[in-house]
Amino acid sequence: MRKIWIAIFFLLLFIPSVLAGEFWASKNSNKYHYPDCEWAQKIKSSNLIKFKSPEDAIKAGYIPCKVCKPPMASK
Ligand SMILES: [Zn+2]
Repeated sequence: MRKIWIAIFFLLLFIPSVLAGEFWASKNSNKYHYPDCEWAQKIKSSNLIKFKSPEDAIKAGYIPCKVCKPPMASK
């Protein structure tokens, strides 16, 4: 039973950043990602930039990642 609660706990920790429509980008690249993208996971925290919407990322000169395909406009 306890394992289920641990799984739910980690799911709840992780889901908000995805549901909040947050997008991650690196100072060293020109692409933005879903936070759960494998490339987003590789960004060092010192290089990490977070955007609240794809519009913000595009305005800052970023393009969508071809792997995780984030939207170009918020719904
Ligand atoms: Zn990506």
